[in-house]
Amino acid sequence: MPAISDLRDAFTTHFGVTPRLIVRAPGRVNLIGEHTDYNEGFVLPIAIDRCTFVAARARPDHTVRVFSANLAAEDSFSLERIEHSTTQPWGNYVRGVVKGLHARDLPILGADLLIKSDVPIGSGLSSSASLEVAVGYALQQLNQLNLLGEELALLAQGAENSFVGVQCGIMDQFMATLGRADHALLLDCRDLSYTPIPIPPDVRVVVCDSGVRHSLVGSAYNERRAACHEAVALLKTRLPRIAALRDVTAEQLEANADLLPPAVLPRARHVVTEISRTLRAAEALEHGSLIGFGALMYESHASLRDDYAVSVPALDTLVELARDLPGCYGSRLTGGGFGGSTVSLVSTSAVASFAESLAAQYQARTGNQATVLICTPAEGVSRVATF
Ligand code: ADP
Ligand code: MG
Repeated sequence: MPAISDLRDAFTTHFGVTPRLIVRAPGRVNLIGEHTDYNEGFVLPIAIDRCTFVAARARPDHTVRVFSANLAAEDSFSLERIEHSTTQPWGNYVRGVVKGLHARDLPILGADLLIKSDVPIGSGLSSSASLEVAVGYALQQLNQLNLLGEELALLAQGAENSFVGVQCGIMDQFMATLGRADHALLLDCRDLSYTPIPIPPDVRVVVCDSGVRHSLVGSAYNERRAACHEAVALLKTRLPRIAALRDVTAEQLEANADLLPPAVLPRARHVVTEISRTLRAAEALEHGSLIGFGALMYESHASLRDDYAVSVPALDTLVELARDLPGCYGSRLTGGGFGGSTVSLVSTSAVASFAESLAAQYQARTGNQATVLICTPAEGVSRVATF
């Protein structure tokens, strides 16, 4: 975590004035419930102890100047004309949030903003949502706007959907806003109701970036969504009351399997079983059964690999290696798949040697370099300094 005094000094060096405040918003990782969000199902993420920090000061004019210390780049625009930037794509995350505030008729002054993040950028821990939420919250605090919690999350998601052009669900912005220290949130993607589930202090969440990225991600994601959509349309001919795969039980799916083409059935099966696993995993955690929770993580991985077909050999290798290491309760791919990261639940006492061995064995087996992060569940967006 960057020191508050360093952030203040960096702001002062860049803008020639001191900041008024500093806020932080966390990244996130999903423990279980993969590809369930767009099927109106459940997810079980934690906000992580890696954050985007924004140091901010209001300006007397209508200009927003924003400096990313991570990219050593500045963007600047007028509140009166907020357009998509082609030269500074990263600035669109900020522009989108400001435009969203305007669209809601929330009056704001210009601002100087300095951004510094220790969320790895572009590796699936949602640096983008933490940036949007941190910027939205900084402007909320500077201008004393009535915009908090779920509304802030929805505004940030709207910025990413319509201004940046990424069709993400609500989970990332929701966690950056409403994450809870020492808890995962069981989030119902249908109505955004949620239940905090305590994570015991004797376990850590380990995220391991495989270093593998596939160009397939976007098209495969769209294909999977289309398969779910098709499954609902076909199942509806016999189950007229369903609105999404969320409404279908495993028994109903198997009883009506004849309705679905062979390529669609396993996709629907993953979603239906994953939603049930997520609910059972939350229950296991509530009852303190880490072994039960971990077993469901392994099942989730197998389902993503075999039924949903979104794993790749590097992720399968990471999960297999994790399974054989001391102190590991469970492991699975997290995020969309086709590369990216795995998430594992590991006993706190074994976590340092787990992280070291996993990276070393993965490199020996595949030649790839993994990046391992040991995380604890963190609080959603907050103000960390006032000057
Ligand atoms: P993820 O959200 O998984 O990290 P994305 O591709 O969704 O990956 O978002 C990454 C993008 O968000 C970056 O390419 C950049 O445009 C923007 N971004 C995130 N953090 C920062 C930052 N600290 N400074 C500038 N831009 C950032
Ligand atoms: Mg993102």
